[in-house]
Amino acid sequence: MVFENPVIKEILEKYRRIWAIYHASSVLGWDMEVNMPSEGIGERSVAQGELSMLSQKFLLEPEFVELVNKADGIEGLNEYESGVVRVLKREIKIQSSFPPEFVKELSETRSRATAVWKEAREKDDYDKFAPWLDKIMDLAKRAADYLGYDKYPYDALLDLFEEGLTTEDVERMFEKIEKDVKPLLDRILEEGEVPKEHPLEKVKYEREKMEKVNIRILELFGYPLGKRARLDVSPHPFTTEFGLKDVRITTRYEGFDFRRTILSTVHEFGHALYELQQDERFMFSPILGGVSLGVHESQSRFWENIIGRSKEFAELIYPVIKENVPEVAKYTPEDLYWYFNIVRPDFIRVEADMVTYNFHILLRFKLEKIMVNEGIKAKELPELWNEEMEKLLGIRPKNYGEGILQDIHWAHGTIGYFPTYSIGTLLSAQIGEYMKRDIPDFQEKVRNAEFSPIKEWLREKVHKYGSIYPPKELLRRSFGEEVEPEYFVRYLKSKYL
Ligand code: MG
Repeated sequence: MVFENPVIKEILEKYRRIWAIYHASSVLGWDMEVNMPSEGIGERSVAQGELSMLSQKFLLEPEFVELVNKADGIEGLNEYESGVVRVLKREIKIQSSFPPEFVKELSETRSRATAVWKEAREKDDYDKFAPWLDKIMDLAKRAADYLGYDKYPYDALLDLFEEGLTTEDVERMFEKIEKDVKPLLDRILEEGEVPKEHPLEKVKYEREKMEKVNIRILELFGYPLGKRARLDVSPHPFTTEFGLKDVRITTRYEGFDFRRTILSTVHEFGHALYELQQDERFMFSPILGGVSLGVHESQSRFWENIIGRSKEFAELIYPVIKENVPEVAKYTPEDLYWYFNIVRPDFIRVEADMVTYNFHILLRFKLEKIMVNEGIKAKELPELWNEEMEKLLGIRPKNYGEGILQDIHWAHGTIGYFPTYSIGTLLSAQIGEYMKRDIPDFQEKVRNAEFSPIKEWLREKVHKYGSIYPPKELLRRSFGEEVEPEYFVRYLKSKYL
């Protein structure tokens, strides 16, 4: 047994009702995206709000908090038990940091700001949204004060999404990206050998046919469809887990440019696999599940980029695509590969390729940082956004929708979240390189759809630890180092030069 200490056992018994609320709330969240009729949103939000207050109440019950504190003082807990204490202490600290009036103000401001953002984006009227962005930033700074920080208020916000991440970590990461990937991008564009666009982008497909392709790919990966997992459709693809044995991904079908649905399915599979390969003994405990957003994204990006965008994968799935999208017969697997690996500076982050993607995040990071740490006001941002875009990608947005109004995140009050996307992307290349050292015939394995050793490796190095260790410690233990952008730079160079 992994949990033997009587205090830990008592904690886990009490934790079960909190787990049950999270479970229910995940089901409601999944249903909201996949099935709910649009006007159900009002009642659903109330239900979700009530559930989250209930789980907070259970978590912060003095008796429960005392038990966790008591466990924290016990010597000789095993690593699983210490993991339980670590995760719960962190959750209790975060949930008890904010006074109820603040939580209420934040949630009201979020809803209003999101509504205003939608309207502002439709009308391309940034001035409407700017005062709300200032309010959101003000609330973010107050949140940072409640949470506490050593150096910068932004550190407290980063830590909420990626435990232990600091402004300086992110600066160091992006310095390297700017220094090495920017010249690489310039060179790719100058030499013009990597396609900037591809005729396959315009090819139309039938939804039912593409569903077959996605299901075939998931079968090749060994995704336990119907047993422990599902594939559904939603406007914004995502992964959710209700528990170890019920993990669900979604995709979307736009009817053209099929790499989008394929790569997004492969991406979400990576998230799902992390949850499916957890240690069964952690069921119902707070250490079940991926440790952080960045590490989670490294798993999805690994499948999307390292596997999904490889030559061998293009060869592997070429026949099934050809069977379902007849026009593909005009092209070769090599064409398919380049179609998956186009490089084209563009305005929209979610459509960005691997080379330009991190610049979109860098831009957002720079703006968030100066707003939170230096108090720059929202009215100054569009100009800064456009200048930075021009400097990094050589293009200048013609309207706010192509620029500062494109993401919903700020309206939602999610400040400090974007860097986790880059962490995931960088880490996926790092993991790819470590894996290829251990599995020298990695490419052959992908070509032959032998994914078991790859999945097993991920389980051993990352998945089986659940949330026992904080992300940085997990990486040090499994790989001997933390996030190192060098691997990603090497990966891009070997792919594109
Ligand atoms: Mg993801």
